Amino acid sequence: MFNALVLNKDDDDKVTSSIKQLQESDLPEGDVTVDVSYSTLNYKDGLVVNGLGGLVRNYPHVPGIDFSGTVRESSHKDYKTGDKVILTGWRVGEVHWGGYSQRARVNGDWLVRLPDEINEKQAMAIGTAGFTAMLAIMAIQDQGILPDAGEVLVTGASGGVGSVACALLSNGGYQVTASSGRCGDEYLASLGVENCIPRDELTEWNGRPLNKERWAAVIDSVGGSTLSNVLSQLKYGGAAAAIGLAGGNKLDTTVIPFLLRGVKLLGIDSVMCPPGTRRTAWQRLCAELPKSQLDKMTTTVKLSEVASQGSEIIKGQVRGRMVVDVNG
Ligand code: NDP
Repeated sequence: MFNALVLNKDDDDKVTSSIKQLQESDLPEGDVTVDVSYSTLNYKDGLVVNGLGGLVRNYPHVPGIDFSGTVRESSHKDYKTGDKVILTGWRVGEVHWGGYSQRARVNGDWLVRLPDEINEKQAMAIGTAGFTAMLAIMAIQDQGILPDAGEVLVTGASGGVGSVACALLSNGGYQVTASSGRCGDEYLASLGVENCIPRDELTEWNGRPLNKERWAAVIDSVGGSTLSNVLSQLKYGGAAAAIGLAGGNKLDTTVIPFLLRGVKLLGIDSVMCPPGTRRTAWQRLCAELPKSQLDKMTTTVKLSEVASQGSEIIKGQVRGRMVVDVNG
């Protein structure tokens, strides 16, 4: 028997959660069974545990979009009992059984081997959010945007994606400006942020297709009018990596910044990201994200706290990264 957080939908379409004892026969099909050590709480998990966003098709459902753990049993050619693994994406925790469980069974092709440089807890302190931040930085660097190009703006800077992006960029020599509802916090400065603009300054779209050129690049996890605004503020040849929708999914803009300033809008998807890119991103995270900064941005909660924290994250009340100790 093992414990898992299980979501159910009642007759009024209300989603409720409880911790249940399950058994091996409850696990879905798959060629690798994993003893899960840690999962995390991401914005998407907040949506799932609150029954929002239409992400889950079938109930009962075990949420948790990522996990780290040890292979218990495997018929997959690349994994054997005892191997340490990470999983992010592939719609695990949405349409497939997720990481808020002491055991999971998945398609081995979805796994990444845990790099030697980090332990299972550090892997989940990084988690989906940190992995996605790295993908965004790789995307802007693919455009040739290096530290000498100028200031980089990170929106939603004290969230999970934002925190890791700030730390990676500042350690990589970029001048980082945050857009945040928490500019006064010492926290952002501890991640290497040099300037902070209150998030409200970007949430009203003034409708002007071009504003003063300011950013060499933007890492955006807010979307909506924040993204509309920053597109009009990119420097000539700059790029915005669109990651998230914490502030809205509607994008009101014009083609003018693309035509007159040659700016680029780069879509970032971590869920179906190909295996080769995944391995590169994890290698770079191990090499470029200082463990001391990772510790500063991480809090740990138990499985029993996920439901309440899931409500907090969608209200923008969770700072940094939240690791879920499924055995705690
Ligand atoms: P978090 O909740 O940890 O961070 C979001 C941050 O955005 C908050 O901390 C807050 O930062 C800011 N924010 C919250 N609400 C608003 C609002 N109404 N208006 C403006 N800013 C707001 O979430 P994650 O970091 O886990 O995820 C961020 C986004 O990225 C989500 O939309 C998520 O779905 C998406 N995502 C996408 C992925 C992909 O593959 N494309 C992968 C991972 C995440 P502050 O207090 O500093 O203002």
